Amino acid sequence: MIISLNPTYLCNFRNGKCAKTCYLTADQLASESVLDLEVLKKKVLEVKEECGLDHIDLYGGEITLLPDSYQFELASFLTTLNCSVNVVTNYSRPDSIILTSPLTNGFDISVSWDYTARQGWSKVLKNMQETKRPFAILSLASPEFARHDPEDFFEIIAKLENLICFEIKPYSQNQSNSYSFGHKDYEKLVQKYIEVYERRKYPFMFTNIELLKDSLAKEKVSWSDEHLYLNPRGEWCVLDFDDKGREYFHKVFDLAGFKKWEENEKRHFKLDPVCSKCSFLGHCLSEHLRPIVNFESEGCSGYRGLIEWYDERRLR
Ligand code: SF4
Repeated sequence: MIISLNPTYLCNFRNGKCAKTCYLTADQLASESVLDLEVLKKKVLEVKEECGLDHIDLYGGEITLLPDSYQFELASFLTTLNCSVNVVTNYSRPDSIILTSPLTNGFDISVSWDYTARQGWSKVLKNMQETKRPFAILSLASPEFARHDPEDFFEIIAKLENLICFEIKPYSQNQSNSYSFGHKDYEKLVQKYIEVYERRKYPFMFTNIELLKDSLAKEKVSWSDEHLYLNPRGEWCVLDFDDKGREYFHKVFDLAGFKKWEENEKRHFKLDPVCSKCSFLGHCLSEHLRPIVNFESEGCSGYRGLIEWYDERRLR
């Protein structure tokens, strides 16, 4: 099982551009409520016992805003779980306990950085230039990020000595904001970046290419049957879409509720007229499948157009 832990939604970048594309609402990003650590531990251990635990993504809000003592105790607990841990951060506070304590040496770090589309982007760039710790960059495919030239962007991040990999994450319209940047826009954007990356050969990995290879090898899993989110109220959630196609956290209450929800997800997409005929069903690029409205004009959240484009390109 993979767990995304959100002990807090509070974010110090809540007044900037990135908050306008964030899936959390303005109220959530300003909320100071923090998940009780004893509740967090109990919930995580319950899943570990019942389902096994492969990986934890730790994020918020901004995880480094938590009190030092909380970060220390949380890091100590995570090291006892024998699973991989990834800390997702805006990297505005690179000296935080969760990013610097020797306890966290085995944790991966992912910096959410969308170039000028993110509040504090130049300060965070400096933090990434100065860090001695290996890290990944995650950039959200927002309309502003898409306006940048991939070659310029790659030139900037190629100078980051400890950058291991870079990934462009898809934007989904959600209950907080709704930009017009659809599946096909995302596919075109990633294609542009792949073309430049393959021509110029940069010293870091481009994760989107690795995911494409995994999809084609049918090694990637696109079902949500192994991914739970724990919110600051201690509730288990899944990422779902409401009846207007907007992303939101859907509470599933307990593991039985989760099982029921994920069985429904599989049933729905196995019966979907497009997905049921798709050779990538169960292995496409989706992080959480969104019901298809009109495949011809809008594409799909599994980015079939991108997978097919990459497959043809590598055979050329
Ligand atoms: S790639 Fe698209 S059509 Fe194929 S299974 Fe995934 S969501 Fe469905």
